[in-house]
Amino acid sequence: MLTHFIGGEQVAQGPVFPVYDPVTGSVLRQVHEADSAVVDRAVQAARAAAPGWAALPVTERAAWMRRLADGIEARFDDLVAAEIADTGKPLEQTRTLDIPRGAANFRAFAEIAAQRPDDAFHLPGVLSYTVRRPLGVVAVIVPWNLPFLLMTWKLAPALVAGNAVVVKPSENTPSSAALFAEICAEVGLPAGVVNVIYGYGTAGQLLVEHPGVDGVTFTGSTRTGSTIMRSVSDRVKPVSFELGGKNAGVIFADCDLDRAVDGTVKSVFTNGGQVCLCTERLYVERPIFEEFCARLAARAQTVEPQPMISAEHRQKVLSYYELARSEGAKILTGGGVPADREAGYFVEPTVVTGLSEDSRFNTEEIFGPVCHVAPFDTESQAVDLANASEYGLAATVWTGSLDRAHRVAQRLEAGLVWVNTWYLRDLRTPFGGVKLSGIGREGGTQSLDFYSEPTTITIKLEQSDA
Ligand code: NDP
Repeated sequence: MLTHFIGGEQVAQGPVFPVYDPVTGSVLRQVHEADSAVVDRAVQAARAAAPGWAALPVTERAAWMRRLADGIEARFDDLVAAEIADTGKPLEQTRTLDIPRGAANFRAFAEIAAQRPDDAFHLPGVLSYTVRRPLGVVAVIVPWNLPFLLMTWKLAPALVAGNAVVVKPSENTPSSAALFAEICAEVGLPAGVVNVIYGYGTAGQLLVEHPGVDGVTFTGSTRTGSTIMRSVSDRVKPVSFELGGKNAGVIFADCDLDRAVDGTVKSVFTNGGQVCLCTERLYVERPIFEEFCARLAARAQTVEPQPMISAEHRQKVLSYYELARSEGAKILTGGGVPADREAGYFVEPTVVTGLSEDSRFNTEEIFGPVCHVAPFDTESQAVDLANASEYGLAATVWTGSLDRAHRVAQRLEAGLVWVNTWYLRDLRTPFGGVKLSGIGREGGTQSLDFYSEPTTITIKLEQSDA
């Protein structure tokens, strides 16, 4: 039974809900659900801890971040097991990406924050400089697709900037957050600086609307993001959102085809397509269209299916497979449930073609192991097709021409563009989307800017007559 972590204590309060194993569909564990009393208790604990935490020198908070990273590494195997149990992720991905990135997030933001200078502006007789203060208490709402990686990606900058936090993991994936709460206690983090509550249906809303919460960071669907924005608008709370995507991949005939196919397989099927950065729309230059489709479909058949996070999400993805059929798509591979995987939440890796650009399949985020492939004839047409989406999170370009790479990358309406690669990240660079894909940027000093507010101090300096 998972219990909330509030003010440094385990709190068994509120009703109970089940978490399911996506590989078998059976109940994995029971979790306490935060009602309004639990949410209030967590926010009050954070408010009590916030001033003392904010008063520490940033170098001391950075030292705490490094202790948390050490604590993560000490519980590495437990975290890997917890994340795999909740999500059904492959061991290799969890060992090499999800959990190590958790520790790396804390180390990176410790360094970025400790070394960041304040701004100072000089004019004759006038000195202006800025000091940055934390927001206070931040609500951190974490999705289920990369639970530990994305939780720590938000927590590290929020904490090192001097905020106390109340974290609410997804109802589907609470286990690595529960272990992180244990790690906070193990390293002796001051009580109340990190609070973790669980919930299903109402906790998120209760948390963001609580008057004691000063800012909200959320990664998830655009619909929930805009609901949160409306519900905190009365109090004008700052929000940082990384939302949905319908990411395009543009493949030119002059690319290294082996690399492009390889990279596209990763960008479509990693984590069962349940990554906001995954590609769902592919545009391929006509001379290589047939060959590319054939090679992608063949490779898709070799991809090990990964479970969707829940029965509900599997149903959603399968409904898009049905939609593709009913809209007249040609299914190049997949389109159903793998023969030997009736239990659990598996779907087949799927490649389709032949749908119009304004079809629901090509405009709505599916968030599964699936893409649509369409041909193009000119560079401008490719850019227009890629940009014809309400979303603008990420895009990939595959080309052998340096000029074209820069030209196209700079015209794509996306917060992140990769050329001849995918998912490569430098944690110091801005991360986030344009249009319906979000508001604000995470990463490096951009994260620190969100989790703090600058005050500008201006001093008139009298000129000396000496
Ligand atoms: P949502 O994006 O709808 O988010 C669910 C989370 O938001 C839960 O923690 C929930 O907590 C919280 N929440 C819901 N309503 C509110 C509210 N009004 N105020 C505050 N918090 C709220 O995710 P789903 O799991 O339903 O996924 C739906 C779709 O979102 C997916 O199919 C996918 O397309 C997309 N998605 C995108 C992700 C990304 O990385 N960009 C990640 C995950 C999903 P509670 O239930 O306790 O209120």
